[in-house]
Amino acid sequence: TSQLISSGAGQVITRFGADFLIETEQGELLRCTARRKLDNLACGDRIQWEGQAQGNAAVTAMLPRRNVLERPDFRGRLRPVAANIDLLIVVTSWQPAPLWEMLDRYLIAANRLRADVLLVMNKSDLRSTHASAEAEACLAEYASIGCPILHVSADQQQGIAAILTAIQGRTAIVVGQSGVGKSSIAAQLLPDTDIRVGTISDNGEGRHTTTSATLYRLPLGGSLIDSPGVRDFGLTGMDFATLETGFPEFRPFLGECRFHNCTHNHEPGCAIKTAVKAGQLPPRRFARYLNLLADLQGQ
Ligand code: GDP
Ligand code: ZN
Repeated sequence: TSQLISSGAGQVITRFGADFLIETEQGELLRCTARRKLDNLACGDRIQWEGQAQGNAAVTAMLPRRNVLERPDFRGRLRPVAANIDLLIVVTSWQPAPLWEMLDRYLIAANRLRADVLLVMNKSDLRSTHASAEAEACLAEYASIGCPILHVSADQQQGIAAILTAIQGRTAIVVGQSGVGKSSIAAQLLPDTDIRVGTISDNGEGRHTTTSATLYRLPLGGSLIDSPGVRDFGLTGMDFATLETGFPEFRPFLGECRFHNCTHNHEPGCAIKTAVKAGQLPPRRFARYLNLLADLQGQ
């Protein structure tokens, strides 16, 4: 095989310890080392590489990122997990019942990442038996603020094609509380996962399984970045501005509060509170906003 030095652009697919698996612009998978200063590379990062194909290729530079999802490591230091995310697929279900405040936190996180949200209500087969009037009212509020919602049953393989269509042309992650069916949905979206990872592992060094975030190309176009650590990432470093922009339905009213730094809590002349009372803003979302604000002020 050719040992010509080559180079080009690519994207990080996953990491194996100190090494990275990248996909070149030609669509080839290449195992690379990274220069030490590129310790912050994450799955999804766009990069420059150079070297011999399947020899000792190296990532030489990280290209600018659109955003990065970080998690604390075992020492509590924030580490990058996934980069360049366009879409947060927030999964919830009728059983276990949705933790709506968690959903709000994901909307806040999506806003901070400048990513879109797709709300997937999984286990639609259980809706008639397990939905409560309160849960239906909460869900209707998300529809009223323009949040796209898909009703899916991973078990009955219903709605999976609609998720694939929603991901088209974008890079998505699947997140949500435990037990709602994230793994079931990921398994439906990625039926041939092992084939892809297995191909690159079989280079004489034995098979590697990775728990690192991995980027998968999807059949209709678009990509999914997935790993257990991506699925349950939390919200770190929330500040007031981040909280407020996570409630996009407030936006048309914000300029009308009497105080420019109104927290929409105790202040007189608050346009948000007035709008909630007038039925112009969803009351359940507002009540949870106040809880999140109290968390923020107590931290
Ligand atoms: P995760 O913790 O979010 O990854 O959830 P899992 O994918 O492990 O699913 C949790 C449980 O819900 C499993 O017992 C699944 O079989 C079940 N489950 C997943 N999707 C559906 C569905 O569409 N309908 C029903 N009834 N059960 C489902
Ligand atoms: Zn206000």
